[in-house]
Amino acid sequence: MAKRALITGVTGQDGAYLCKLLLEKGYKVYGAYRRSASADFGRLAELGIEKEVERVAFDLLESTNIHRVVDKVQPDEIYNLAAQSFVTLSFEQPVYTGEADALGVTRFLEAIRMVNLQTKFYQASTSEMFGMVQATPQNENTPFHPRSPYGVAKLYAHWISVNYRESYGMHCSSGILFNHESPLRGLEFVTRKITSSLARVKHGLQDYVELGNTEAKRDWGFAGDYVEGMWRMVQQPEGDDYVLATGETHSVGEFVELAAKHAGFEVDWRGSGDNLTGIDKKSGKTILKTNPELYRPAEVDFLLGDCTKAREKLGWVPKVSFEELVAMMVEADLDKVSRGVLRT
Ligand code: NDP
Ligand code: GDP
Repeated sequence: MAKRALITGVTGQDGAYLCKLLLEKGYKVYGAYRRSASADFGRLAELGIEKEVERVAFDLLESTNIHRVVDKVQPDEIYNLAAQSFVTLSFEQPVYTGEADALGVTRFLEAIRMVNLQTKFYQASTSEMFGMVQATPQNENTPFHPRSPYGVAKLYAHWISVNYRESYGMHCSSGILFNHESPLRGLEFVTRKITSSLARVKHGLQDYVELGNTEAKRDWGFAGDYVEGMWRMVQQPEGDDYVLATGETHSVGEFVELAAKHAGFEVDWRGSGDNLTGIDKKSGKTILKTNPELYRPAEVDFLLGDCTKAREKLGWVPKVSFEELVAMMVEADLDKVSRGVLRT
């Protein structure tokens, strides 16, 4: 009989790629989504799988609903990808972020404890938990120091998953994933903001890209590679914690330069920090400006992951390089803008 997987956050970037992967592996996939008047399954549609996923209404804030969903679906594996995932918003909505990203996980684990302790559980943890990094590169043994309500909430979720593993012998895995991007990434995250805005600038639909801190560095990989790592964690005999990362770090400014090059611009920088301007050498046009209002109250300046454990125990390695990722995202957004289908 086909294995049953319940994926929360199915309308998001990772939800879409993970659904595709598990469908290819022959799973019966239940996609848990937050019901609203305008629930958007556009990412599943972009991957051509929206009809193959069984939809289940779900909210991280509602214990009774989570319990009923787990009871009804009787999944073999649960991938909890649902979250308020945007760091900037977590400074504006810290209480909500804690309710969803932290307590939501306890609600889930309690439901599993009551329905079936054998259910395997994957928790979407994050390199944001390292925050003000205490060692470089960061691996599973690096101490945490989150720098946002999002990071703090996710750290609670990480530890409660570890706690249920230790307390009840549950198969809980915490995937500490460094930033991963794709043409399906939300438009508010910096990589997609850059590629979608540059595509609009290129087509004359926008004057320039406006950014905050361009000096922050991230270890950026491709989301399609990372969902494969999630699945591999869940297939292990025991639940455990694993870092998934590329082992390369780049600044936001470097991402801009490379993306601009793929879009046919060449950036000449003027000024620095919150007074930085990027001018296209060929046309003399300003294509980027920084805005101090887009800086965060506390920043994660630098992230660089070490995925040795995942490589050795899961046989996981990222396949798409930084250059390939940037090119893939720019090309996809240029294509979407030219077809008039880029959502803004
Ligand atoms: P997205 O923001 O694209 O997707 C988040 C999903 O969570 C959406 O489907 C959203 O639904 C859903 N959601 C939000 N709030 C609730 C709620 N209260 N109840 C039910 N569903 C809810 O995130 P990604 O796909 O990029 O990331 C997946 C997970 O991995 C997240 O938990 C994220 O924090 C984590 N993560 C992501 C990283 C990355 O670089 N992408 C790095 C490390 C961790 P709706 O469409 O209704 O908003
Ligand atoms: P995060 O690592 O989960 O916070 O992912 P983001 O893509 O939201 O941000 C990555 C980095 O880009 C952070 O250091 C941000 O401060 C920086 N950044 C600079 N300008 C912007 C911007 O306009 N939007 C976002 N989202 N991030 C920006």
